[in-house]
Amino acid sequence: LGSALRGAAQRGELRLHYQPKLDVASNRIVGAEALVRWQHPELGLVPPLRFIGLAEELGLINGIGRWVMQTACRDAAQWARDGLGELKIAINVAKPQFQLGSLCDELQATMTATGLQPRQLVVELTESMLMDDVDNGRALMHEMKALGVTLSIDDFGTGYSSLSYLKSFPLDELKIDRSFVTDLPDSASDVAIVRAIIDLGHSLGMSVIAEGIETDEQRECMQLLGCDNYQGFLFSKPVPVDAFVALLKQQR
Ligand code: C2E
Ligand code: MG
Ligand code: MG
Repeated sequence: LGSALRGAAQRGELRLHYQPKLDVASNRIVGAEALVRWQHPELGLVPPLRFIGLAEELGLINGIGRWVMQTACRDAAQWARDGLGELKIAINVAKPQFQLGSLCDELQATMTATGLQPRQLVVELTESMLMDDVDNGRALMHEMKALGVTLSIDDFGTGYSSLSYLKSFPLDELKIDRSFVTDLPDSASDVAIVRAIIDLGHSLGMSVIAEGIETDEQRECMQLLGCDNYQGFLFSKPVPVDAFVALLKQQR
């Protein structure tokens, strides 16, 4: 798999799917998360959890991440030009990209080249990335904030969950991990955890998004608890760009 992965980007085998992010109150699409897939000639569509780790080990993640960044920014800038709205586009950044030192330059260059407004770009980071090297992480986050991009913590609550970083990092958004959503609304402890995360985020001036919303009951629960945004199979799985554009046109 590793040797095949090596040339995958150059051979045009990577695909980007978009999962809508919605406003809980209005149920309108306000953005999308870009999620990479690998169209392998024999294996078919390979999900990211099967090759991202490998790409990190083999030193290929920076190239893949660059392709994701460029493709996502280009598509979202095009949607704005096509009058489909100024959507927020979220990309996932891997630890090696974060550590590379050139991430901010690449983000800036990509936004300039594609014409994407910085306020449209969301960078999803994970807790473990930030906790590995707190000082460098904080500096890089401030650099990204200075570009005007939005910073989000993915899978919130599953990592180190050190609350001290929340006050010292310039974060804009908490993303509640799917594991706290799955058993809603029946699990009283998950309701309590989700409520606490939402209140914590809001108290610190952040917006809160829930991932993995699969049922109406889960969406209603988020509405009751005051969650700002959601994404999940209830509204749509991650879909190719054409299908995502069709969803945008439907809501006009
Ligand atoms: P993530 O960033 O937490 O992305 C959310 C994952 O949850 C996606 O899986 C998405 O398809 C899935 N999901 C969304 N809604 C639901 C739902 O209602 N139910 C269920 N069961 N699942 C849902 P996916 O696309 O397989 O991606 C998995 C992980 O791979 C991502 O987790 C992210 O950590 C990583 N990944 C994806 N694309 C990239 C990328 O371009 N770069 C990097 N570094 N990592 C990526
Ligand atoms: Mg993510
Ligand atoms: Mg997540």
